Amino acid sequence: MAEKMRAVRKVRPGPGLEMTQIDIPRIQPNEVLVKVRATSICGTDVHIYKWDAWSQSRLKPPITIGHEFCGDVVELGSAVRSLKVGDFISADSHIFDGTCPVCRNGQANICQNLVIFGVDTNGSYADYVAVPETSAWKNDPDLDPAIASIQDPLGNAVYAVLCEPITGKSVAIFGDGPIGLFAIGVARAAGASRIFHIGKYPARIAIGKQVGTDVAFNVTKPDADVVNQILDDTHGLGVDVSLEMTGNQMAIDQAFAVLRKGGRFTAFGIPSQPITIDLNRDVIFKGVTIYGINGRQLWQSWIQMQGLFRSGRLDPSPIITHKIALDDFEKGFEMMMASDRQAAKIVMYP
Ligand SMILES: [Zn+2]
Ligand SMILES: [Zn+2]
Repeated sequence: MAEKMRAVRKVRPGPGLEMTQIDIPRIQPNEVLVKVRATSICGTDVHIYKWDAWSQSRLKPPITIGHEFCGDVVELGSAVRSLKVGDFISADSHIFDGTCPVCRNGQANICQNLVIFGVDTNGSYADYVAVPETSAWKNDPDLDPAIASIQDPLGNAVYAVLCEPITGKSVAIFGDGPIGLFAIGVARAAGASRIFHIGKYPARIAIGKQVGTDVAFNVTKPDADVVNQILDDTHGLGVDVSLEMTGNQMAIDQAFAVLRKGGRFTAFGIPSQPITIDLNRDVIFKGVTIYGINGRQLWQSWIQMQGLFRSGRLDPSPIITHKIALDDFEKGFEMMMASDRQAAKIVMYP
């Protein structure tokens, strides 16, 4: 009989998750078995927990949740060449085929046959997870497991901020979710000249200041005149870069309004409905470049992230607000859903 392990799963359609005992995964020749050291809670996991319309259309329970993690390789598939037992790895959650035209064009993050850990396949809220060799990323052995586990969302921020050079440039970051906060730290580490942060939760705005914000706005305050104040602060020109990380119509409008002519608009936040853009005013006549960001550039974003860690300039630890046992996952989800947003990133340890 196969050995058992703990796994937090969506056992059947409906809200919530359950701690279960299931068989330890049996790996394919191209996979490694990883003993999970740390795994963090993502907004996506909260959608799955709540069982919203997206989760209902996408997930096929029973499935183990979780896609942000790190751990140690304990077993190698027969075809694996680049890893060995004992390697400390993380993984990119976007599992790509490597053979479709999009992958072959160097854009594996948006592979035509994309499969996502913990959404389409069994994930990391467990003692063990099976990882394809091609999705694994070898960490520096001394990297803090909490930080190693949050590289998937931090890598989103690295890609969003660094898809064009940012050194010496002013940037407005809209959104105070964890990836918005990570983006502040990355922009600061990469030498942005001035960082404006636009959020709505005091606890999150305070974390932003810890990791690099120069000027913060709380949009729930009646005196928050985001557009005019940013234009004033940039001598009427506007910022070089707008990072839109909310998906909210008002924020998208403001992100274009504060952007200088010829600036860069980076779209990362996911609107729940189609939104409108004044293409003439905000893009064509302004000569704006829009980037859509999905996932992380494989593997440039990971290489840049590792380089930023090694430089000592990027420390995302203020954004990791809670560390709990995997057994206490219910507590973690309650904190993630709390209205005060005191919790930003929560790391769980099996
Ligand atoms: Zn995630
Ligand atoms: Zn592909």
